Amino acid sequence: MTQKNYKDAIINPVFSIIAEAATELNVDCYVIGGFVRDFLLKRGTPTDIDIVAVGSGIELAQKVAQKLPNLPKVFVFKNFGTAMLKYDEMELEFVGARKESYHRDSRKPIVEDGSLEDDQNRRDFTINAMAISLNKSNYGELLDPFNGINDLQNKIIKTPLEPSITYSDDPLRMMRAIRFATQLQFNINEDSFSSIIKNKDRIKIISKERIVDELHKIIASKKPSIGLALLHKAELLPYILPELNALQGIEEIEGQKHKDNFWHTLEVVDNISIHTENLWLRWAALLHDIGKAPTKKFHKKIGWTFHGHEFVGSKMVYKLFKRLRMPLNDKMKYVQKMVLMSSRPIVLSEDFVTDSAVRRLIFDAGENIDDLMTLCEADITTKNPIKQRKYHNNFKLVRQKIIEVEERDHIRNFQPPISGEEIMKIFNLKPSKEIGILKEAIKEAILEGTIPNEYDAAYDFMHQKGKEMGLKNS
Ligand code: ATP
Ligand code: MG
Repeated sequence: MTQKNYKDAIINPVFSIIAEAATELNVDCYVIGGFVRDFLLKRGTPTDIDIVAVGSGIELAQKVAQKLPNLPKVFVFKNFGTAMLKYDEMELEFVGARKESYHRDSRKPIVEDGSLEDDQNRRDFTINAMAISLNKSNYGELLDPFNGINDLQNKIIKTPLEPSITYSDDPLRMMRAIRFATQLQFNINEDSFSSIIKNKDRIKIISKERIVDELHKIIASKKPSIGLALLHKAELLPYILPELNALQGIEEIEGQKHKDNFWHTLEVVDNISIHTENLWLRWAALLHDIGKAPTKKFHKKIGWTFHGHEFVGSKMVYKLFKRLRMPLNDKMKYVQKMVLMSSRPIVLSEDFVTDSAVRRLIFDAGENIDDLMTLCEADITTKNPIKQRKYHNNFKLVRQKIIEVEERDHIRNFQPPISGEEIMKIFNLKPSKEIGILKEAIKEAILEGTIPNEYDAAYDFMHQKGKEMGLKNS
């Protein structure tokens, strides 16, 4: 690629407004980083736009805002010397060109004003350091001191400066390298990769929130296994997800082996990513087997077992989320539930499928039943084509059965056909444990198939049951 001018990248009128504001302030400015990279990669039109000003980024942002039709609010981050404004679905981030130097124990640099070159030197990767000029003299010119465009073509991630310095200065870049390698399906160059391994321990100075941001991006990628395998290869996994790390390896006793649950898990995550964009379902796939390390046992007669790994795993989900400062909210509970139930449809599919077993599965999974089936299907990683077909067919049957049973019995959003209040009225009861017992008995009778999920049948059943309990009608 010998092209030097990239006016095509900056045809959006907002760029000429920025250029005009910069001229008035008498500062040079450039669009830089992800916007330039993604334009050159034809990854669509990025809506995150980073502008670097050789001067005050904050002043430039304010000037730009005055010129925009809707006078957008400027969010100023004085401590960082940056300012942000939103315009027409775009997020424009302004920063003054800077030179950075680092302390060993922090990823917060000492910052001085600098030139464009200084600013490019502090960028993480050559492909992220490219700038396009917004100045009159060379409007649209690509400023690419590290030949990032070459690395884009060759799909290489490498640092502008000495990698050991770049990674040691700000170890978050190790996560970013692996994240970009995953998103873009690029290779991290050898020098860079050995520096990451050398500096792995420095990941400890990075906040959990930052690490999780990058993890989310890896997991949300088309093929998350690329990043997960790189985290493993870079020896970062034990710092970040020791529970996954513990799944590695194959043990053999008396000629009996179990599968390597780490590599199996990576396949499951890739499989599920073909079928869902739901980040938390992908997390569930990632964590579905973590209970296998602590529950693993060898028995002379039956070989390897992982009894109760789903329950243990779901408890581990809580600890893992807490350690990584992830929200302990409904998302966490959803992941726990998926892990806890991850074997239920498998048990069903191996057996003759009874209606009552299907009703119980639907009742327990509730609105997450489809996600659970998607997880189980993704869990099929056998390389034996006959088994593979068989397992997929079995799940297809379970899915069909779920549809049939649900159409008839409406278990998915189960509402007790008779409310507690009604039970209280009928038997003239004050709030008491009898009400709970009756409600539970009705629910059980419906799930078992003793009675259909209908009011009249439930009413008769409740009467009978109440009589047995010695209750009297009011
Ligand atoms: P995306 O927005 O898709 O994550 P991006 O490259 O725009 O990709 P941002 O985190 O938005 O990434 O950062 C914008 C730019 O700032 C990057 O392209 C890079 O030049 C620079 N940058 C961000 N984080 C770092 C870092 N930790 N060290 C050095 N430079 C960084
Ligand atoms: Mg960005």
